[in-house]
Amino acid sequence: MIQKSLVMRKCISCRKTFDRETLIKITRDHNHGIIFHKGMGRSAYICKSKKCYADSKIKKKLQKALKTFLKPESIEIFEKEITSYNDYPNKGI
Ligand SMILES: [Zn+2]
Repeated sequence: MIQKSLVMRKCISCRKTFDRETLIKITRDHNHGIIFHKGMGRSAYICKSKKCYADSKIKKKLQKALKTFLKPESIEIFEKEITSYNDYPNKGI
């Protein structure tokens, strides 16, 4: 039996650790500002709990985690991506 190793990462909002696979990964990118679920470099993770990604302070926390100032375009991309998780059947985390 092959056991898949779990990589745990911390949600930047609730600070709880989760299996990396279940988190939304945001990576700082030179060309695009931020990219999702790919890329190398400094990245931050947010869990799919609405409480976390819909947090009004999440953009501040994200910029702090990525150690960068996000341009309005990047914030827009972030909000668009993050609200696409609204329908996620992941209640009660
Ligand atoms: Zn969280």
